[in-house]
Amino acid sequence: MTQRNHDVVVVGGGNAGISLAARLLRSGCRDVALVEPKAVHHYRPLLSYVASGMATLEDLRRPQADVVPDGCRWYADEAVEVDPTRRVVRLAGGDELGYGDVAVCPGSEVDWDAIPGSAEAVGTPHASTSYLPEHAPATWDMLAALTSGRAVFVVSDRHVPCAPVALKPLLTAADHWRRTGVLDAIDVDLLVEGDVLVRHEGADRVLRDAVASYGIRTRFGTTVESVDAAARSLALRTPDGAATASYDALYLAPPHRAPAWVRGLATPGSDGFVAVDPGTLEHVEHARVWGLGDVATVGTLPSGGALRKQVPVVAHNIAARRTGRPMRRYDGYSVAPVTTSRRRLLLAEFDRDGRPEPTIPFPDLVRPRLATLLFDRYLEPPVYWHRLLRGKVS
Ligand SMILES: Cc1cc2nc3c(=O)[nH]c(=O)nc-3n(C[C@H](O)[C@H](O)[C@H](O)COP(=O)(O)OP(=O)(O)OC[C@H]3O[C@@H](n4cnc5c(N)ncnc54)[C@H](O)[C@@H]3O)c2cc1C
Repeated sequence: MTQRNHDVVVVGGGNAGISLAARLLRSGCRDVALVEPKAVHHYRPLLSYVASGMATLEDLRRPQADVVPDGCRWYADEAVEVDPTRRVVRLAGGDELGYGDVAVCPGSEVDWDAIPGSAEAVGTPHASTSYLPEHAPATWDMLAALTSGRAVFVVSDRHVPCAPVALKPLLTAADHWRRTGVLDAIDVDLLVEGDVLVRHEGADRVLRDAVASYGIRTRFGTTVESVDAAARSLALRTPDGAATASYDALYLAPPHRAPAWVRGLATPGSDGFVAVDPGTLEHVEHARVWGLGDVATVGTLPSGGALRKQVPVVAHNIAARRTGRPMRRYDGYSVAPVTTSRRRLLLAEFDRDGRPEPTIPFPDLVRPRLATLLFDRYLEPPVYWHRLLRGKVS
């Protein structure tokens, strides 16, 4: 075992970790290390377009080496523990990294165990998800091939990253079915675990209208308890009691969970996500431990858009904690871009309490538009690669 020391160690080289490492280096921090095991980086928002037949996996992949910022020491290893008492990050390979500050951002992971049978189901041609790169292309294959029968779309509200974007494959598929003249032959059910489509009143209204315009039946407060892949049926818990539903095509936005190894940074008895002050993003018990991104308990919808605000707050607060300057606070800003058809998209931006927080006052981006869809599909990816991941957006 060897121990190396770094001023700041960032655990996880996804959207949060790369943006933060770049931001810290830009602001003059000279010794930033990154722990990230994967050799390929994904721009995950495009997965919804892959699942809608409007992008390919090639559009969203880059070698990790290309996105790790210059000057950042990259450990291509997995963290297995953050020990705030000894101030070290332990790596799967056995080495330890001592830190001045550590930022924990390994994201969340699909929790197939939460719905018994769901992992088996997505191994068949009749079920899929946009939430994993290995399944996103098959989602569109499945939806595009359907010309009659029953399609069931399931949206969990258990830590799903940017959950409303699960409606993208639904509404682009419904539009495709309408254009190809088969929509009337397909029964489409949308099963939503929560009580809204998006936590923004105006956008929720627009989305409900869009969903209804395709004849899709929405059932709120409905949880899928298990999937029988062989019988192609779901066991449901609904507000009226137990029920079953059969499917010819099943789309899942499945529950997510925190990685097991961060449990030591969670509040005892909680669901295992890293316990940070939702304003400062510093750990509630351990000074100099920071949490951001999908793994952190920040009381708002986890999203890449949220990181535009979280990253500058953490970068500022790491320095502020050292010099005694006032800390900055994250207000819970998050965002959900949702297509209402293959030619229109709305953008819902809101704070922790669901209050609208538009980045630009005009035009009203909650109104679905072609221009907003083109921006989301074609302009956001270069902004991600060339600005967000380089720590340039505040
Ligand atoms: C299908 C889909 C569509 C989405 N659409 C949108 C959208 O349109 N708009 C939007 O704003 N957001 C969207 N999001 C959400 C957005 O992608 C996430 O909120 C964002 O990626 C979170 O960043 P993160 O860095 O916290 O986690 P991730 O991006 O998941 O990155 C975590 C990183 O940590 C690494 N890691 C994991 N375990 C370890 C370990 N033990 N040690 C070291 N490293 C580790 C992983 O390999 C990964 O690289 C979408 C997400 C998905 C899945």
